[in-house]
Amino acid sequence: NIAKPSQGGFSFYDDGDESRVLRRDQMTRAFIESLAKSRLSLVFQPIVSYSTGRVVACEALARWEDSTLGTVSPGEFIPIVEDNPMLCEEFTRWVLLRACQAARVWNDALEEPVKVNVNISATELYREGLIGDIDAALSSAGLAPELLVIEVTEQALIQRIDRAVQALEMLKSRGIRTALDDFGTGYSSLSYLRQLPLDTLKIDRSFIIDLATDCTAREVTRGIVNIGGALKINVVAEGVETEAQQAVLGDIGIEQVQGYLWHRPMACEALGEILMRANACRDVISPGG
Ligand code: C2E
Ligand code: MG
Ligand code: MG
Ligand code: MG
Repeated sequence: NIAKPSQGGFSFYDDGDESRVLRRDQMTRAFIESLAKSRLSLVFQPIVSYSTGRVVACEALARWEDSTLGTVSPGEFIPIVEDNPMLCEEFTRWVLLRACQAARVWNDALEEPVKVNVNISATELYREGLIGDIDAALSSAGLAPELLVIEVTEQALIQRIDRAVQALEMLKSRGIRTALDDFGTGYSSLSYLRQLPLDTLKIDRSFIIDLATDCTAREVTRGIVNIGGALKINVVAEGVETEAQQAVLGDIGIEQVQGYLWHRPMACEALGEILMRANACRDVISPGG
């Protein structure tokens, strides 16, 4: 902070800074309490296979409704959580366990497996205990490692590319899948992509928004699909909102899609019904009939 002149002389903060610091403080304390009392929740957003209409995975997204602060969006509380390593660790464990438990419940009722995607903060990927926490969540929920997808951002991977490769290899050796989230918004180069053992690239919403109106966005998206094909990495388009965008994606040949056009994030209870309808259910549909 730079000292700036104020009416009474020099101070480090103006009123705006001060209230921001206070709000952050208040939020951190409130979040710690909410986490301890399990007042956070997870919603799940399906990722759909375009050609079959089936749900292939559901992404877990954290929600926080505080008694005094009201609804706080992940865009606001995730950076606060990430500023507190101990809190972030605890939060990651909570998300992992809840997500794996939910996936176990829906997979018990389904013929075809539906994976669960979990977002992991950049700093968490490098934490030594993360693998142990993932193992613990999987075994406590009784979920097969193959049904878990860890989503990381480019920011997480480029900080220490060697460590990132190590961490992803570790996940891969356990059968856990990995996805690169918000692809195209960070700084990853093709040489990074080639080194990283990734299963999936998720093309950021910012590319999808312009798809129907801007042929540059379309060609860039086509390029990403070609790169994915060359590297044998599955490509997902995120943030698909309109039929026009979906038409272009279908034309480009993107097989997996996620966005409000298909499904909004929803509570696990509501998800069950969607999965039953979109995917075969063991109890209702017998093999071959
Ligand atoms: P993300 O992982 O890229 O998740 C996609 C975000 O886009 C979600 O926002 C989702 O609700 C939203 N979205 C999905 N489809 C559409 C669409 O068609 N249109 C629009 N406008 N938005 C769409 P959300 O839930 O607010 O989460 C924002 C970000 O916060 C996530 O981005 C992720 O980076 C982070 N986040 C959320 N939950 C967690 C968590 O449990 N752990 C960590 N580390 N980060 C999380
Ligand atoms: Mg994500
Ligand atoms: Mg994303
Ligand atoms: Mg994002």
